[in-house]
Formats: sequence, C-alpha cells, structure tokens
Amino acid sequence: MSETIPAVGIDLGTTFSALARLDDKGQPVTVVNAEGDRSTPSMVLFDGDEVVVGKEALKAFATESHRVADGSKRDMGRRVYHKEINGKHYPPEVIGAFILNKMRVDAQAQLGPFTKAVITVPAYFDEVRRKATQDAGYMAGLEVIDIINEPTAAAIAFGMAHGFLRPDEDRKTPHTVLVYDLGGGTFDVTVMEIRGTNYITLATDGDVQLGGYDWDQRLVDLVAERFIRLHMADPREDPTTAGKLWRECEDAKRTLSSRAKAAIPCDYRGFAERIEIARQEFEEATQDLLDRTRFTMTQTLKAAGLTWDKLDRVLLTGGSTRMPMVRAMVRRISGKEPDTSVAADEAVAHGAALRAGQILARSQGKPPAFRIRNVNSHSLGVVGLDRLTGRKRNGILIPRNTPIPVTARRTFKTRKADQRSILVEIVEGENLSPDDCTPIGRCTIRKLPKGLPERSPVDVHFHYEPNGRLKVRVSVPNTDAKIETEFTRENGLPKEHLDGWRRYISGAEPTAYA
Ligand code: ADP
Ligand code: MG
Repeated sequence: MSETIPAVGIDLGTTFSALARLDDKGQPVTVVNAEGDRSTPSMVLFDGDEVVVGKEALKAFATESHRVADGSKRDMGRRVYHKEINGKHYPPEVIGAFILNKMRVDAQAQLGPFTKAVITVPAYFDEVRRKATQDAGYMAGLEVIDIINEPTAAAIAFGMAHGFLRPDEDRKTPHTVLVYDLGGGTFDVTVMEIRGTNYITLATDGDVQLGGYDWDQRLVDLVAERFIRLHMADPREDPTTAGKLWRECEDAKRTLSSRAKAAIPCDYRGFAERIEIARQEFEEATQDLLDRTRFTMTQTLKAAGLTWDKLDRVLLTGGSTRMPMVRAMVRRISGKEPDTSVAADEAVAHGAALRAGQILARSQGKPPAFRIRNVNSHSLGVVGLDRLTGRKRNGILIPRNTPIPVTARRTFKTRKADQRSILVEIVEGENLSPDDCTPIGRCTIRKLPKGLPERSPVDVHFHYEPNGRLKVRVSVPNTDAKIETEFTRENGLPKEHLDGWRRYISGAEPTAYA
C-alpha cells in the first residue's frame, strides 16, 4: 500500500501567512484555513490561557493591542519579541510557532496528518534567523524539510505556471527575471536566472522597514488631518480609535486598488464622519514610498550586471503589488508588462509546495523537476585578532553573493603545547569590525589530540548548505583524531526548551530532529 504524503509549503509572512500543497497532477493549490480564507493574518492573541491566531487576533488588535503579537517575523533571530505580553517575554520563534501550528492544524483537517513541510524566508535572512524559523516549525509540530528563499519560491511558481519546469524545456535559452516583492512589512528585490530547470540567484536586496503598513499609515494620516480640519480633534491620539482607524484604512487601501475612491468611517469624540479619499490623493501621499522601491529595484538590477532591455520578465509578488501605482511604476521603468500570472499573495506558498514535492519525489528515487542554486546574502567571517593593532577583526571567509553550497576552510594554530580546545567566534556581516556584524555563535573545538606542539594547525571547515544553514567541521592535518565541535548559537533556544514548547504548542511528542 502506498500512502501519499502531501507536499506542503508554507509562506510564513510578516503580516499574512499562506499554505499550499500539490494536487494529484502536481499543481500547487492554496489550502484555505479553518475560517475559509486563503491567507491567515500573522497575529497571535494571548487571551488568558487561550492562544488565538489569525483573523480573530487581527480584530482584537485594534482594541487590545497589548495582548496581540504582530510582526514577530521582524524580530526573528532576537532573543525575545520586542513587546511584553501579559507580563511575558516570548521568543519570536515561539510566536511564529503558534502561527505555523494553526496553519498545520487547519490544513491537517483537510489533508490528513502530514508533518513534513517547506517554509520560506526572505532572501536577506541571515543564518540565525533561518535557524529560528526552522525552530518555529519544529515547535509547531512540523518536520521542516527545507527552508527556501521567498523570491526563489515565487520564481518557481511562475516557472511552473509558464511551463519552465518541464524537462523538455531544459535546453531553452536562459530567462532572467526580477522578483519585486512588496508585502505588508518588507520590500524585497531579487534578480534570478532561470536556466532550463535551474533557478540561480544573481543579486538580492531590499528594505526591511518598508511595506503595505507604511501605505496604511499614510492613509491614516490623510484621514486624521481631514478629521482635524473638521472637528479640531486628532483621532490618532486615542489608542483605541487609532487602532480602529488603522483597520478601516487597511481595508480602504484595498478598495482603492480596484476603485477610484473609498469612504473611511472615523468616529471620535462624538463626531462620526465618513471621509472620502480619492485614489489619486492616496497615490500622491505615498509617492515617496514607491520611489524608494524603484530605487532599490534599479540598484539590484545593476548589481546583477543587467539592464532593463536584458531582463526578460518582472514578477510581482506580495499583497501590496495589487496597488495600481506599483504596476504602473514597474511598467514605466522596465518597459515591460509585469507578470501577475500567479496570485500575488499565494505565489510564495505555491513555490514552497513545489519544492516540497520535489524533495518528496527525490526521496522516492525520482529525478528532480528543477534545481535551486542560491547565494548567501551576508558574508561569513571568523573573529580574529589583528596582530598589529591588537584589535578584533572580522576575517571574511565566504563573501556575500557566493553560490551555495560552499565550503571554506580556515587554519587556526594552537597557541601553546598540548592545547586541547579552541574557541572560534563566527559572525555574519560586511563590516571589518566584528561589533558591527551579527554574531552567529561560538564554536568550541574540543578533544584535540594530546601532545600537539605549539602552533599546530587545526583546520576548520565552514559549510553553507543550500538552505543557508551553517555546518562546522574540524580536522587536524596528519591525524585522524575525532574532534568534537559544539556550535552554540547566539539567541538560539536550547533543545529542552524547543521540546517543551513543542509539547505545549502542538501537543506533539518530539520525534527525530536533526
Ligand atoms: P507579507 O508581508 O506578510 O508577506 P503579503 O504579501 O500577504 O504579506 O502582503 C500583505 C500586504 O498586502 C498588506 O499590507 C495588505 O494590506 C496588502 N494588500 C493585500 N491586498 C491588497 C490590495 N488589494 N490592495 C492593496 N494592498 C493589498
Ligand atoms: Mg511575503
């Protein structure tokens, strides 16, 4: 009897998350949540003992924001979420786990008890944040079979929609695509080459503080200013009114994507108004935000060594690309009709499901439908001492934009005779000063063979896996000594905590987890 495991991919977004699977024909389809929606707000309401994820948490956000965790993805890789909730400091990956758990439970009700899933992350996510995302999946009762970059996932979904994933397409000329992803809280651009069934990242950049939320805020300001002119009172000064207004504006922003004007109710100090905003007014008030995306997009294209005429396609993903102003700008700058063949807020989840399908097929001995070649988005280095100045320095081992997987080796010398251990500090970042880089962790090399003379070489191999995760291996030249390395991650939750959270959040017993 052959039991088929569904190929599941999850887009764990800053503001919205989506889950997709492959149907019987290998086509990606979005799986709706328990509320019947195609995406789930990435918000978690801590209501006493009850933890509520999604739409209900979003509703509560307007009036009880102190009990709602939103935007936890922005804090991934930090030790704790920036806001205290009910007196507790949650690690951001725990909040992510609550979201993923809802996605899993809702999908299992339709697909049966799967656990394997691919989760996506922004291309710029560093090692620490990728690990945190993987841990979030684990605590949600999932087995994370891969972590892939969101733009890559989007490109795979578009590739599928256009038939690039058929093996007979292999010899076709390479296709260059620019993925413009404007979501709720972040903006990302990636230039990729699709060569037959190979997906190769050429350059990637973005703005982690720019997204649909900023457009919402501008609309709130427009309405508030109008209200002040009418009633000399600012609705933004009262948190509850401001929260409600924000929800109304987010809604009106969507209306403005399909209609020329929207009316926004605003009720404050006994004055109830419906304030009408025209699309043009909204576009003028947010023009500078759009310009910032244009600038980054143009720079990234340049970094990839391309010009608009050499680019084959512009793909739009992220819910905010539904705004007509985005499409018009991209059309004007690129001279191309932007591709919107896959739903903006579902493309990433679809690509993740395709990737999951590929991994599951491979485990059954089938040839891969496509390959992904990734680059590392941050330089990886080791902290060393500058002999001349005596200052700490970041010795870069793997520069950014290196195709991965890649292995780099660094030889360390023991400082004294019979030294048995070495401590290696690992950082990510471009700066020569380690203080301006992100610490990834410390690697302790133990049980060096006894009796090594002073200044004996010890080789440390840093291996970047295709998913952007780091593995460290150590060897001592001319010996076959078994050496232990212990990689302690910065801000990572220890295994016992992960297991404890996993039991609490998903009710599942821990299984094999590497
Ligand atoms: P994430 O950043 O979580 O990946 P999404 O890609 O799902 O988010 O995009 C969410 C953003 O898209 C939100 O800011 C939302 O307001 C915006 N959005 C969704 N639909 C529309 C629309 N029709 N018009 C304008 N903005 C939209
Ligand atoms: Mg997104």
